[in-house]
Amino acid sequence: MTRSLGIAGAGLIGRMIALAMQRAGHTVTLFDRDSRAGHDSCSWVGAGMLTPLAELEKAEPIITELGLASLKAWPLWLAGLPEPVYFQSSGSLVVAHQQDHRELEAFRAQVTRKNTTAAQLHRLDRRALAELEPELAPRFNGACFLEPEGQLEPRMLLPALAAALDAAEVVWHEKVAVTAVAPGCIQTAQAGYHFDQVVDCRGLGARAQWPHLRGVRGEVVRLYAPEVQIGRPIRLMHPRYPIYISPRPNQQVVIGATQIESDARGPVTVRSALELLSAAFSLHPGFAEAEILETAAQCRPALPDNLPALQVGAGLLRVNGLYRHGYLIAPAVTAACVAVLSGEPQPYPTLLQSDDAP
Ligand SMILES: Cc1cc2nc3c(=O)[nH]c(=O)nc-3n(C[C@H](O)[C@H](O)[C@H](O)COP(=O)(O)OP(=O)(O)OC[C@H]3O[C@@H](n4cnc5c(N)ncnc54)[C@H](O)[C@@H]3O)c2cc1C
Repeated sequence: MTRSLGIAGAGLIGRMIALAMQRAGHTVTLFDRDSRAGHDSCSWVGAGMLTPLAELEKAEPIITELGLASLKAWPLWLAGLPEPVYFQSSGSLVVAHQQDHRELEAFRAQVTRKNTTAAQLHRLDRRALAELEPELAPRFNGACFLEPEGQLEPRMLLPALAAALDAAEVVWHEKVAVTAVAPGCIQTAQAGYHFDQVVDCRGLGARAQWPHLRGVRGEVVRLYAPEVQIGRPIRLMHPRYPIYISPRPNQQVVIGATQIESDARGPVTVRSALELLSAAFSLHPGFAEAEILETAAQCRPALPDNLPALQVGAGLLRVNGLYRHGYLIAPAVTAACVAVLSGEPQPYPTLLQSDDAP
């Protein structure tokens, strides 16, 4: 049966739920205070790492389960979009400088201990590393190779999703702030809109409905680095947060991300820029002549357990808390939301939450 669906928030998860539901035959209307470009969303700044195994170091195993399922699902999603999206699943490497060698061993031990899947983690010596990434071998004795991991380019995915939504004739109220979301109703300053079902995907914009939601600031730097030839995301062990150095099309490289318990949305700080750029330069001397194309900062929407959650009620579904895992888990979280909205069996019941309990 065709139903009407209103979605508040057209970041990553709002776009994906909208597309899945419209393609399933429902009539979807999207609302966002931002433009279609989405440059003001957390999703625009996200780095697009798809690293389900490495996340085991700090995250719950459900993130790895959602991430591995999503890695399988991304190629199908991307094949259904009208524009190309850079996607890679040829593994990631974790390296450490000599002084951080123990941290790499601790990382490997922790991930191996928590890895209940068949996903592969390999220890590489210098020769094996040189075969995979020749330009890294002079500076590193070895590495961990996380075989199932990958990345995608959010700056290509978000426009491609927008193009798909337009082609599917989803109604999109852009630059319209939602003032309230209630069962079956989305309220803006101008009007109230009624639907069979409503989904709240406003991330940090839905804080009033998720009292324990917090922002976790993250910063990234984009470089043009023609003197650096690396083929996959490299994670450099860092005492404060994981730093990824990830090659992108057109000789660009993304370096990120910081992770700071703060809601501040201001520009990238000197300290963070120094940390990110020093990490890159310590990985490869070719970064010395790289050009800084962009620095960007945003806040990740996070719940107290740093896990995503779905609050389900009659005529209203709220999804939030994608934290640092939005791209990693979006296809699986979308499948969970579609199951709720379609009354189908829930593939990930642990995501369901009755309230915002800390
Ligand atoms: C620096 C950084 C690096 C990251 N790196 C990665 C990574 O490598 N891998 C990974 O998986 N994840 C990463 N993430 C996390 C990922 O980007 C987020 O989990 C994801 O983007 C969250 O998507 P969302 O749709 O829930 O929220 P958002 O992208 O914030 O979308 C919410 C939308 O709601 C709209 N909105 C809010 N309030 C209102 C309102 N009142 N009315 C109308 N519209 C409203 C906003 O405009 C926005 O478009 C990173 C995040 C950051 C900041």
